[in-house]
Amino acid sequence: MLVEKLRSEVLEANLSLVREGLVVDTFGNASGIARDQGLIVIKPSGVPYAEMTAADMVVTDLEGRIVEGKLRPSSDLATHVTLYREFNSIGGVAHTHSRHATAWAQAGREIPCFGTTHADYFRGPVPVTGWLTEEEIAGDYEAATGDAIVRRLAGGDPMDTPGVLVRGHAPFCWGRTAGAAARMAMLLEEIARLAWLTLSIHGSAEAIPDELRDKHFLRKHGPGATYGQK
Ligand SMILES: [Zn+2]
Repeated sequence: MLVEKLRSEVLEANLSLVREGLVVDTFGNASGIARDQGLIVIKPSGVPYAEMTAADMVVTDLEGRIVEGKLRPSSDLATHVTLYREFNSIGGVAHTHSRHATAWAQAGREIPCFGTTHADYFRGPVPVTGWLTEEEIAGDYEAATGDAIVRRLAGGDPMDTPGVLVRGHAPFCWGRTAGAAARMAMLLEEIARLAWLTLSIHGSAEAIPDELRDKHFLRKHGPGATYGQK
């Protein structure tokens, strides 16, 4: 079997979304990419999580064509493919309809950076896309969803903004690996929940100053990072 290690990583990332309570019914999927081989591994569509094995994962190329696997891939495959093609630095993508992040997506509001918990992971607000056009919805909808995310990032570093809310839909997150993407989906849910509570306590709460935000973000990310063990 191709990319056996990546298959196990992607299975584990999908199972972690369920363990963290981020997946309702089957609304969730995670994938990973082996850049050196040009292969994407993604969850199959509609297989119960309890029965899913690494062998059930579907392997595709960077055009989304199935290379190995008997099952149909997740229906969101084309969104994942677009993100891998446009964001060279990412190695994993995770999509959930987790409650609080999805509520912000439905409200069509970006999540302001209200505190350092947020700034440890996002170097600014969590953005929300515009609406897809009628043509995009009628056409290649899943690829257009990826395009909307890419447009919203507008050339910014995807590692500074490791997730985007798709308007009226839900979040897509990414990271260096499938596991990191799944973890980001969990962290984004916590950030969304904290922001909602913040606004319920103080409806005109303000974002933290840029210096404080960057202090926290850059401690964990980039060449000057000092967080954790060497
Ligand atoms: Zn969805």
